[in-house]
Amino acid sequence: MEATERYAALFRVLPGWFEANMRDLPWRRDREPYHVWLSEIMLQQTRVEAVKAYYVRFLAAVPDIPALAAADPELLHKLWEGLGYYSRVRNLQKAAQTVMTDHGGVFPRSWEAVRALPGIGDYTAGAICSICYDAPTPAVDGNVIRVLTRLTADGRCTDEPCVKRDLRQRLAGLYPAAGAGSLTQALMELGATVCVPNGEPRCVTCPAAGFCAAHAAGTWRSYPVRSEKRSRRTEDLTVLVLECEGALALRKRGAAGLLAGLWEFPNVPGYLEAQQALDLAASWGLRPRGVEKMLARTHVFTHVQWQMRCFYISCAVQAAGFVWADSAALEEGCALPTAFRMFRPEGEKTSG
Ligand code: SF4
Repeated sequence: MEATERYAALFRVLPGWFEANMRDLPWRRDREPYHVWLSEIMLQQTRVEAVKAYYVRFLAAVPDIPALAAADPELLHKLWEGLGYYSRVRNLQKAAQTVMTDHGGVFPRSWEAVRALPGIGDYTAGAICSICYDAPTPAVDGNVIRVLTRLTADGRCTDEPCVKRDLRQRLAGLYPAAGAGSLTQALMELGATVCVPNGEPRCVTCPAAGFCAAHAAGTWRSYPVRSEKRSRRTEDLTVLVLECEGALALRKRGAAGLLAGLWEFPNVPGYLEAQQALDLAASWGLRPRGVEKMLARTHVFTHVQWQMRCFYISCAVQAAGFVWADSAALEEGCALPTAFRMFRPEGEKTSG
């Protein structure tokens, strides 16, 4: 059986399977482009279960594109706090502003115009146009690649852009005149819930089991083929949680680089000993009283891993150069990324 025949067979069985098995997700209640776009951006690198509450909260605070374009960036960072990859929410706002200025406030319909918005790549443009407008624009992400390469025992390296492009083109040629949006979602759903990313695929419940090449040969482990992963570099960091009169010292990160524009606990590269940490706090004019405890934690980003050592230091003076935030301000006002949030005095008990 040729690959194209297997894809076509899959497209025949997917609508019925999806109808019976689709999960009830908050962003599936309508096809409003803002809703689909927001959910697709939130779902990048993030689990569905984690996204649900963020999605509902974000929409309640920022209900439409004009509100997103005009929102205070601090509010957006706060709403994104803990989701990670904060450039996503900055690009969301830039794109909303582009929609307001270049498209009269109406989300564009063509794949090219959607793809041209900040933060939207081939996959997201395909998903939005297909789900919202029923356009034959496949959305080929990791879930879909896994299904397709197993279905056809496709041994090409899927990190090659030309392979993704080829899969996209083959699928586009098979879309029926109607129902593209459901097919796109069904394919993603099959990859997320049946031909799963971690562990054994649930072939016994898969609608493609009867014509899946990898299932027939028992070779699902061989697909998709990936290139060798680049290793992640490690950086050591000393973090100081400086407390004075019930408030903690915060400062803002620079406008560029990792976690740009977000808040952080003061920190320095490398590992300090307790006395060195006290000396540093003293040099900032804080009159430190002593180290109360020390914690070690690791935080993993895509390309770097921070090995962090954190000292909790009680201080006598709220020196200038920092913003002093009590726990309410920390909860409601400042977007503190997870790498630092896990050191909050009340948060560190539950964070790993
Ligand atoms: S039969 Fe198994 S390996 Fe093939 S697509 Fe379905 S879940 Fe994946």
